[in-house]
Amino acid sequence: MIVNERIVDYICSLEKSNSKICEEIEEYAIATHVPIIRKEMESFLRVILSIKKPKRILEVGSGIGYSAVLMSEYISADSRIDTIENYKKRIPLVKENIKKAAKENVIKLYEGDATDILKDLEGPYDFIFMDAAKAQYINFLPDILRLLSPEGVLISDNVLQEGSIIDSKFVIERRDRTIHKRMRDYLYELKHNEKLETTIVPIGDGITMSVKIGD
Ligand code: SAH
Ligand code: MG
Repeated sequence: MIVNERIVDYICSLEKSNSKICEEIEEYAIATHVPIIRKEMESFLRVILSIKKPKRILEVGSGIGYSAVLMSEYISADSRIDTIENYKKRIPLVKENIKKAAKENVIKLYEGDATDILKDLEGPYDFIFMDAAKAQYINFLPDILRLLSPEGVLISDNVLQEGSIIDSKFVIERRDRTIHKRMRDYLYELKHNEKLETTIVPIGDGITMSVKIGD
């Protein structure tokens, strides 16, 4: 946990309850150990969506559809969400949850590896939520930048890796070193790419919010 646990507990204790369908998906996700966004990211997304009012949203990493369904509740009636998932076991669950939420006309699932799908998608998207395999964020970035509209917002989840992002690579276990290096490269790029203005927000598991500048 990056932030003092008691602070997190306090902040989360103020959260209002969710829609019935979101609570249902959340319960299932917790019981079956499927990752879903944390409460801090949830309220962050709600606020940004309410400010930005995006029309075309892209999510990389559907999980079982929790965040897509949640986001669909905070966008206008004519907005659409495209979401990408490659894990075969999760794909039927995403579909089922979209259906249960009666959002078939709002959320479209792209089945397959984002590495391929991103290349074929056509932009522009005015809101992109990156929540897939952390080691791949840096590889996705060129396509993300192509797909993002001017003034479009990019939000990325899990960028501080439980705080281990600040550890020296020598104390990171060998198998995690690639992720560690790539996430550092990603954060550096978000902060230094001349097309982006980025803030790194140390809540949840670490969030970034970027806006595309110029055209
Ligand atoms: N956004 C979801 C949680 C996503 S968990 C929510 O909060 O409800 C991350 C998901 O990304 C996993 O289900 C994983 O299978 C998927 N994923 C990881 N790498 C991917 C890739 N290259 N292409 C497509 N999906 C990917
Ligand atoms: Mg996440």
